[in-house]
Amino acid sequence: ISASISLPSLKHNLAVVATQLNSFSQQDSRVAPHIWAVVKANAYGHGIHNAVRAFEQAQGLAMLDLDEAVKCREAGWSKPILMLEGFFEPADIAVFRDYSLWTTLHCQEQLDMLGAAQPGQPLHALVKLNTGMNRLGFSAQNYAAAYRQALEAQRRGVLGTVGKMTHFARSDDSVDVTQEQFLLFQEATRHLPGPVSLCNSAATLTPRYWMWPSPDTEQWVRPGICLYGSSPFPNQPAHDLGLRPAMTLRSQIIGVQEVAAGQGVGYGHAFIAPKPMRVGVVACGYADGYPRHAPNGTPVTVDGHATQLVGRVSMDMLIVDLTSVLQAGIGSPVVLWGHGGPSVDQVAHAAGTIGYELLCALAPRVPVSVT
Ligand code: PLP
Repeated sequence: ISASISLPSLKHNLAVVATQLNSFSQQDSRVAPHIWAVVKANAYGHGIHNAVRAFEQAQGLAMLDLDEAVKCREAGWSKPILMLEGFFEPADIAVFRDYSLWTTLHCQEQLDMLGAAQPGQPLHALVKLNTGMNRLGFSAQNYAAAYRQALEAQRRGVLGTVGKMTHFARSDDSVDVTQEQFLLFQEATRHLPGPVSLCNSAATLTPRYWMWPSPDTEQWVRPGICLYGSSPFPNQPAHDLGLRPAMTLRSQIIGVQEVAAGQGVGYGHAFIAPKPMRVGVVACGYADGYPRHAPNGTPVTVDGHATQLVGRVSMDMLIVDLTSVLQAGIGSPVVLWGHGGPSVDQVAHAAGTIGYELLCALAPRVPVSVT
């Protein structure tokens, strides 16, 4: 088993986003939003170093883990890095300063820590408003007071740029809810100065969402999943959005069985052969990050032919139908997802999950190559 990460595909997907932002901005005589490429969770499983190389055209990176941010700086990334959860304790502030990281400010405790911080290398900050995701952020009621405290920290030389931020809960499937969130954002931030950051992949790929703020607003978008070639929309395949898969998970057939009609296949005999069948055993299981819940019928490509999973996925192996893939045998190449196989979204959909989960769950034991 092995995974390959395509730097050209990562670059291509970033270019798709940038081209769309630029062309709609031009039509609307506005400055195109800057892009913070979201690279959290080891760049959604693609490797933080690969992301730093592939996304050199982005204006910034966004992530969560301090150690990943440090790796980006050590790899030579000198543009902004936004930390999506900000800092958690006073000692972190020094690290944020050392590595010149932008922080999210989402709770009073963070403002208190800034209040106690001595002036020094100023941190840039986005103050997050909870507009309905109900995850991180100040309430609309408390937002202006929080923002004033951030501006006070700016006056004291503790903060540099101060901006406004929120996160959409349903930009992939509900215009109404997204608009409601934006209107609340607009209302709560109306008289506050600073750049804004609103949009994840689904909102970035829906021009009217990032075009809601007035054309002279300095704006940062935060696309993640689309950069890796997976669709943020439940009903729109990544391919139709012009995106290319950046991760391909491959393996090969290591066993072949002839199964009589009525015989069970795999643990629990979760599949019973309805007719005489030829099945192949693939060296890939849930210990590699393949979803155990992928049911019978989940798409798999063997030797360039589309076929499907039969029986339960086990730790190191899964079983596929080879009845109509006559030429396939031991050693035949298998694509579990990615280039030349089903999309990660198709596999995720079959398994009742999302592409995000499969990409970032690629197991450490899978060797990864970069193309
Ligand atoms: N912004 C924030 C605050 C996030 O937490 C995330 C990821 O969940 C993103 C942007 C990127 O989202 P997506 O991968 O859907 O583009």
